[in-house]
Amino acid sequence: MKRKMLSHEIVNGFTSAIRGRNLYPCYQPQINHSTGRMVGAEALMRWCHPDFGLQFPSDFVPVLEQNDLIYWADLYIFECVCSFLRKCLDSHAPVVPISVNMSRFDIYRHEYVDGIEKIRKKYDIPVKLLRIEITESSAIGGMDLMTATIGQLKACGYVVEMDDFGSGYSSLNILKNLDVDIIKLDMGFLDGDIGGRGGIILSSVVNMAKWLDTPLIAEGVETLEQADYMKSLGCNYIQGYLYAKPMPEKDFLEKLYQTEHEPIAPSMKLIDTMNAGKFWDPDSMETLIFSNFVGAAALFAYQEEKLELLRVNEKYTRELAMNLSAQEVIGLDMRQGMDEHNWSVYENTIKKAIASGDEETCETWRDLHSKCCGDDRICIRSFLRVIGRAGQQFLVYAMVQNITAEKKNYREVYESDQRFRHASEQANVYAWEYTIATKEMRPCFRCMRDLGLPAVVKNYPEPAIAAGIFPPDYADMYRDWHRRLAEGETNIEGIIPLTVGRVPFHIRYTLESDENGKPLKAYGSATMVVNMPNEKESA
Ligand code: C2E
Ligand code: CA
Ligand code: CA
Repeated sequence: MKRKMLSHEIVNGFTSAIRGRNLYPCYQPQINHSTGRMVGAEALMRWCHPDFGLQFPSDFVPVLEQNDLIYWADLYIFECVCSFLRKCLDSHAPVVPISVNMSRFDIYRHEYVDGIEKIRKKYDIPVKLLRIEITESSAIGGMDLMTATIGQLKACGYVVEMDDFGSGYSSLNILKNLDVDIIKLDMGFLDGDIGGRGGIILSSVVNMAKWLDTPLIAEGVETLEQADYMKSLGCNYIQGYLYAKPMPEKDFLEKLYQTEHEPIAPSMKLIDTMNAGKFWDPDSMETLIFSNFVGAAALFAYQEEKLELLRVNEKYTRELAMNLSAQEVIGLDMRQGMDEHNWSVYENTIKKAIASGDEETCETWRDLHSKCCGDDRICIRSFLRVIGRAGQQFLVYAMVQNITAEKKNYREVYESDQRFRHASEQANVYAWEYTIATKEMRPCFRCMRDLGLPAVVKNYPEPAIAAGIFPPDYADMYRDWHRRLAEGETNIEGIIPLTVGRVPFHIRYTLESDENGKPLKAYGSATMVVNMPNEKESA
């Protein structure tokens, strides 16, 4: 009768399963998706019971763990793998490194490393053909124990893989503290959602792995779309049903003959201007500074038009003022929030920072959305600096200021100025603006139209005097007004007959100064003295 085995059947049947070779490894190839070559394989335990049929580890491994039997099962599988490799080596069959799973319960067995070493030596297998997979959850038993075990394994020459990376909430912490050689990332938790949040988590992890110089294998890859997506992130190593299901030894040997092999390449080296790796260590001084002492800051990876936010500090999320969490902010697609113009300004600034190795600044508008605040458009001043590089990918440190209020203020002043101009059009007033420092005059539209003035009149008031707008007998007085404005006189007014027609106008100047009292601009206006309602509009 084919069915799942019950706990007592597993415990009672264990010894005879080993003796009868009903417990055995299946092998699942690991492939470089770019080249199609095999880079390794994982040994996965199977139990084929004569009565109950094929049993999967998710059903029997927990029972073995609870009953202190997993250690023997793991050593047995390790021995099966060594025996298989020996057969391959003896018959000159092609081989790839095989990964073997280590239960977190094996960590409590201090003799585990000695145990596998004895077996490896018995079969005389080069240590580089064996890899040990440790799951992230092993850290539950204490980091010290895990660190010690990894240290022992590495001292013997084993490649150590971190299995199921990203499943625990303290992944970052664990990764920085453990000296693992390869990271395995399970795509299962994405549920096919690589366009949404899952994809963002994935790309962050891939980037993290890159900055840590650690190769990454994506596991549970079932579709070409997933594999291509991982490749686009720079992760080429794939293990999953897309290429092959776990298979018995005989089939795997055939596969070894059919497929070309290559070693797992060490990941790209980070060219450091500072120790970027320390940004991932929650206890490092860099992190302390990042979270507490600098202003609003973010860390992102940039590569040809692609930008990936990796980390933001508290102040950054506050600066956006949208009541978003750090995780939500990281999930935002920065590029999507920008229109073409703003994106190109931002990207050019990144490129400038890459070229100069210095801090570069820009101001860009972004559209943001949050549950509580709805949609908003904010202006961000960014100070960008490249702090690391891996291949064509750059790690960029960004300090930001939200200058939306500043910009809106400016906008309001600008708009009120516009309103003033429109009003003067209606009210039959000639208006202009005179800049003290540059002696430039900017006339209103009416001045331009009626008096034929350009948009900017330089060396004012000389051209207006030369043109006869101000008659010669008033010229010196009018020149003197501008000298008095430059000296800080706030209001000047008088009646001046203008143009050859000597039409009397009431001319007024109001001075604007900066906070230190330094004169900046004077606003001039001219209204006809004899003011009749609906005065003649020049037709
Ligand atoms: P794991 O180490 O994360 O192994 C990967 C699991 O994902 C395997 O399940 C594999 O068959 C499955 N898998 C591979 N590609 C795909 C895919 O494309 N789609 C899906 N949905 N699944 C895929 P399996 O063989 O059932 O093993 C389950 C777990 O049992 C393993 O997870 C591992 O934690 C444990 N295990 C397996 N063999 C051993 C062993 O020898 N010793 C110990 N201690 N644990 C083992
Ligand atoms: Ca595994
Ligand atoms: Ca896994």
